Amino acid sequence: MLPCFTTQFGNPSSATHRWGWEAEALVTIARERLAALVKADPAQVIFTSGATESISMVLQGISRKGPARILYSSIEHKAVLDNVKWLSELGFETVEIGVDGEGLLKLAQLEDELKKGALLTSIIGANNEIGVVQDLTAISSICSKYGSLLHLDLVQALGKIPISFSISGADFVSLSAHKIYGPKGAGALIIKDRSALTPLIRGGGHEGGLRAGTINVPGVVGFGRAAEILKLEFDSVLSHIEMLSQRLLTQLMDGLPGLKLNGSQSTRIPGNLNIQLPGIKSDRLIAKLGSKIALSNSSACLSGDKNASHVLRAIGLSQTEREASLRIGIGRFNTLLEIDRASELILEAYRAQI
Ligand code: PLP
Repeated sequence: MLPCFTTQFGNPSSATHRWGWEAEALVTIARERLAALVKADPAQVIFTSGATESISMVLQGISRKGPARILYSSIEHKAVLDNVKWLSELGFETVEIGVDGEGLLKLAQLEDELKKGALLTSIIGANNEIGVVQDLTAISSICSKYGSLLHLDLVQALGKIPISFSISGADFVSLSAHKIYGPKGAGALIIKDRSALTPLIRGGGHEGGLRAGTINVPGVVGFGRAAEILKLEFDSVLSHIEMLSQRLLTQLMDGLPGLKLNGSQSTRIPGNLNIQLPGIKSDRLIAKLGSKIALSNSSACLSGDKNASHVLRAIGLSQTEREASLRIGIGRFNTLLEIDRASELILEAYRAQI
């Protein structure tokens, strides 16, 4: 990324000189790298400022085709939920599809609703709070059976499960660079048919007319490089994160026999632990450890039930259970030593609080 701030400072849209051509070549390489990671055609990659923009491009970009029916799951990210709310204000019929106690989408309900017709179904492939991975093959085959466009939010899935856009059956996939150690403020929308959307940002016709504005070259180059590294190291990174997550969970369970894991045990991305620490409110523990471990709970650390996580609520947790919940993310650069220290500190803080 660094040369893009200094010596290779060209604008890829400047088609008349060497500096522009160089920048354009860098963006092309980044596009190819990301496309290779998610098994898409480079022409299907539209660079954005992040997944929030990609998601908005889809949900606002289809608004011209409405009012129509839109389906979405009860555990979507805020970026989807807020756009869905906006569509409903525009007169769209927005239908929430529930999840079971494990966080898995109710496929029978999805099918029943799709029978009534839907323009678009938007599903979070791997949940950001509880890490649960949906049955994407089943979801896409039901959507195609009933003729609904399918948008998948695969922000959390990227780098955690293999993604193949070409066989996913999805029409749109939203991605974010910073979830794979790329820079913040860079993302992508992978799109099958560009004519399905009207652009969110109009201007100079960049990105095939779907996303106007000068490309964030350093951000895009960083995203491409992160994608390339991930593709090369996917298996080893995954097994490292899996090993660390399992070790942390085992240590916490050994030290705290009443501990429960929120969400499915088996179909979740490695690196996400969302646990209930019985008998306490997790926000006090999080605040106490804030300078040593980056922990969060799902209730935005605010008091009062109105702020509690909609995801934990959707899987049926009581207020007490939601308040006892703690979310831990384990990444590729974490070490065994850090994991052991984290479990010691969490157990110590728990015992001091109980
Ligand atoms: N979707 C999910 C599942 C996320 O976890 C996030 C970010 O945390 C987003 C969307 C938004 O991504 P961005 O921060 O790139 O806008």
